[in-house]
Amino acid sequence: MSRDFNNLANLGVQKLHPYQAGKPVSELERELGISHIVKLASNENPLGISDNVKQAIQNELTDACRYPDANGHYLKAALSERHNIEANQITLGNGSNDVLEMIAKIFVQSHHEVIFAEHAFCVYPIVCQALGAKLVEVPAKNWGNDLDAMLAAITPSTKMIFIANPNNPTGTWLASDELKRFASQVPKDVILVIDEAYTEYVTDGSIPNSIEWLSEFDNLVVTRTYSKAYGLASLRLGYSVSNPSICGLMNRVRQPFNVNSIALAAGIAALEDHDYLAKAISVNRAGMQQLVESCQQLDLQYIPSAGNFLTINMAQDAMPIYQKLLHKGVIVRPVANYKMPNHLRVSIGLEHENQKYIDALQEVLS
Ligand SMILES: *Cc1c(COP(=O)(O)O)cnc(C)c1O
Repeated sequence: MSRDFNNLANLGVQKLHPYQAGKPVSELERELGISHIVKLASNENPLGISDNVKQAIQNELTDACRYPDANGHYLKAALSERHNIEANQITLGNGSNDVLEMIAKIFVQSHHEVIFAEHAFCVYPIVCQALGAKLVEVPAKNWGNDLDAMLAAITPSTKMIFIANPNNPTGTWLASDELKRFASQVPKDVILVIDEAYTEYVTDGSIPNSIEWLSEFDNLVVTRTYSKAYGLASLRLGYSVSNPSICGLMNRVRQPFNVNSIALAAGIAALEDHDYLAKAISVNRAGMQQLVESCQQLDLQYIPSAGNFLTINMAQDAMPIYQKLLHKGVIVRPVANYKMPNHLRVSIGLEHENQKYIDALQEVLS
């Protein structure tokens, strides 16, 4: 019998639930003894890792006995050139989740409130709940951020606002003019975090690159990731761009070697791999079309998505459907933990992967 330490934990941690990851292929293989599994559950890039990045990783491996460059000098140099910003505005993270946690840790205390939308990415409440803050979840509008309601939710205790553009798990997105108007109305002492994890996939020209707003809004922090369009989810690499002062604070709480040398090298190579990114975007566009058409054929409602996934209303409890799909070797993502019990989130895969999901769903629903 092991002792339960829950009541000794920080109050915020006591109420915390662990992050639920997409089921790994190897786990389903073990559980069901099946092979040829298709995983469309974690918004990963179906192209796999590019040859250029593989080579960069190979070259870096020999030095894996050394600590990485704690400042990520060369990757920051490449990113600052790419985004036309100073290197002292960039904070590298072990995935962008690492950066999100740092930013919360710096500013959020237990008497503060943090604002995010209903159905927003669950990492925002996780990192703020751990700090004991009051979580203010603003009801969604058409599955996305209701910016007016979010402005109305601001109080003198509000310390931080999180917005993912596009949002996960809904795929909804905000146009430049509406988001910029919102940013200009957020009080200057409230930190506005705009998470652009999926921005490379967005084909709608109205979506902002909010990094360009940093000169206007010094309370803005923009996060980006290598986990999605750049295809490096396992290496854990993301970053934020902010005012240099905020960047300096992040450097105080950052673990000294939070980004490993292999990720640093891969990050530079991936940034130069324009063909890979272009292919990722075109495969995504075609796959999105394929999934949308399947919804229309199966008469299922879906939430129009600007990301690399589509969230689909099964018009019934989605959990049994998820389970049946697993037995057919297809892993998708239930989103009941996002208060969307009837929806499944399906990541865009390669054409044959999408087709396997479509065929399996058709069988399950018939
Ligand atoms: C996938 C995702 C990320 C990326 O997280 P990493 O830690 O960089 O892998 C960030 N924000 C949102 C909204 C996401 O869906």
